[in-house]
Amino acid sequence: MSKAIEIEPKRRRVFAIISHPDAGKTTLTENMLLAAGAIHQAGKVAARGEARRTQSDWMKIEQERGISVSSSVMTFEHKDLIFNLLDTPGHEDFSEDTYRTLTAADCAVMVLDVAKGIEPQTLKLFEVCRLRDIPIITFVNKLDREGRDTFEIIAEIQDKLALDVVPMQWPAASGRRFKGVADLRTGAFLHFVKPEDGGEHVMTQVDGNSIQAMFNNDDLFDEFMEEQELAKEYPDFNEQSFREGHMTPVYFGSALRKFGVLELINALAELCPEPQAEAAKKAGQSVMIKPTSKEVAGFVFKVQANMDLNHRDRVAFLRMCSGEFKRGMKLKTAEGKTVSVHNPILFFAQDRELAENAYAGDVIGIPNHGALRVGDSLSESGKIIFAGIPNFAPEILRRAQLKDPLKAKHLRKALESLAEEGVTQLFKPNFGSDMIVGAVGSLQIDVMRERIKTEYGLEVTFEAPPYQTARWIAADDEALIKAFVDKNMMTTGTDVDGAPVFLAKSSWDVGYAQEKNPELRFLTTKERA
Ligand code: GDP
Repeated sequence: MSKAIEIEPKRRRVFAIISHPDAGKTTLTENMLLAAGAIHQAGKVAARGEARRTQSDWMKIEQERGISVSSSVMTFEHKDLIFNLLDTPGHEDFSEDTYRTLTAADCAVMVLDVAKGIEPQTLKLFEVCRLRDIPIITFVNKLDREGRDTFEIIAEIQDKLALDVVPMQWPAASGRRFKGVADLRTGAFLHFVKPEDGGEHVMTQVDGNSIQAMFNNDDLFDEFMEEQELAKEYPDFNEQSFREGHMTPVYFGSALRKFGVLELINALAELCPEPQAEAAKKAGQSVMIKPTSKEVAGFVFKVQANMDLNHRDRVAFLRMCSGEFKRGMKLKTAEGKTVSVHNPILFFAQDRELAENAYAGDVIGIPNHGALRVGDSLSESGKIIFAGIPNFAPEILRRAQLKDPLKAKHLRKALESLAEEGVTQLFKPNFGSDMIVGAVGSLQIDVMRERIKTEYGLEVTFEAPPYQTARWIAADDEALIKAFVDKNMMTTGTDVDGAPVFLAKSSWDVGYAQEKNPELRFLTTKERA
């Protein structure tokens, strides 16, 4: 076995940032890249965003609504470690997309605004994290602004998220009185020098005895020391509890002032688990695929189509789980499709590079023409199937209508393509020729309408269909599904993969059908095997 396969996965840290809009995710991302030396000037990430916006108009929605709807990955190196930051969309309508992205992350950073604490979207994204018990590091941001009391913020995280909370640092006030943070483990103090009082670098490390000298207001110093005494009452950091998603360590800083950002990267280096063994099925048997397993294997957690309108390309983002990938390798999906990976892309902050090798914990972009979908497992043998990335039952169903009915075929193709990409879902009723689009949130529908217009040149409208909800139908015996479908042609159909779905008028209908057919399962999530 080559040595690289032993060493390289241990150097990888795969994480995502979750936050309520405006808490500072973009600023933090940018300043992390800056602190790690991956970019040389703040504003680069935004600039890249602008460039991409000019490429694809549908991102106008992002601009108009001031939200980010596209996920991507950014790679940076720090202290001999390779960090893969998976970007998650901030809007709640995209929690499905977020969930899929989080299946590929080993840790999440939850950013809170010190003045606002846990906001509705933080809670929703946290719940998505909890589905997978993903370890969470909390970063309380905007300490340079007037914020809430530290004990209060910690209590709120504890109460609202039902997590054990361990402050790793303790801030000395906030806003104009903000003096810096103490590292509660080492006692070191990071002094915050206001930008107007000093140059670019706003932190200095000070040893314990000189801390008092930093405080020209004695009251604040006493208060700070007292608070640190009280902070000793919090539980000790417990790695296992953190890894199981029950305990969150808390860090403090100001992304905008680049304060505490390097400390956060160091925390990730130390705490974010290296790639672990992943549960999978191989030839029907449950197995754990270790990062050091010889066979190259991974799964697609994101597909981005039409990044370049002239080429109608698609990039599938593959999270590597095992083996030593070499450029040009042939990989197979579980359905037996073979993909020759000649141009795998690594996404460094400023450049895209061809990947010659990749290991567990790497994310590679595989350009393709629609062969790969979200949830696909890829491996050399094609026999490894990772535990699924689910589709969620849509909360909104719409019937797609065209101004020009002659273009129905085009529309079907566009809808299929977007469904395969995971933007929205597509259902085909067994009766009639309707195209029923499903989404978890209404913004998904807006994004889709916009993309169909700009990428396919089709004007599409949506109206309410006679159904309100969809459930995947499962049973141990296929014949039972068929019998149900035959009896309910008007209210059943198939999804984009041909899986049977029940299109119900209400959740009451689902309950009724369940009562009448106890041997069937009406599922709100479909695991993509
Ligand atoms: P996102 O929506 O979570 O990506 O938030 P952004 O990074 O776009 O930040 C939202 C706003 O908060 C912007 O105006 C930022 O300049 C500001 N901001 C972010 N971090 C800080 C911080 O540490 N201090 C202050 N004062 N403002 C911040």
